Amino acid sequence: MDIRVGQGVDFHRLKEGLELWIGGISIPSDKGAVAHSDGDVLIHAICDAILGAAGMRDIGYHFPDTDERFKDIDSKKLLVQTLDLIRLEGFKLINIDSTVCLELPKLYPHIDAIKESLSNITGLEKGRIGVKATTTEKMGFIGRGEGITALASVLVSAD
Ligand code: MG
Repeated sequence: MDIRVGQGVDFHRLKEGLELWIGGISIPSDKGAVAHSDGDVLIHAICDAILGAAGMRDIGYHFPDTDERFKDIDSKKLLVQTLDLIRLEGFKLINIDSTVCLELPKLYPHIDAIKESLSNITGLEKGRIGVKATTTEKMGFIGRGEGITALASVLVSAD
């Protein structure tokens, strides 16, 4: 079986008064991500991991933030389109693991809803989707609440 690993990382600045999207759901928060799209840092990291596993460049290459078609776009659509792109090249997503780093709000109560959302978008069963959350112990830009980061790893199989 031809299996490929991919990794992705994404960062966004956080600003008061914006909506916070993580894994396709809106999380109650004082701050949200500053972005051309809806700023869903987790979905962006997952898209990059999937594209990387398939050797197909990155999210900025396929969905440039200078393109008005992607302004304020629902990142769930980017993930669906990413899966379509790799499928055309004969790849299939096997599993996702991921970590979101942010100070506030606590993601713990939302993890299951995020997994459900990612399962609905990707068609993967929830047991094949890992979503973890961590803080940086108040250190650095994440600890000061200035930004959010997500990291993702995936496996894809090639036909
Ligand atoms: Mg992004």
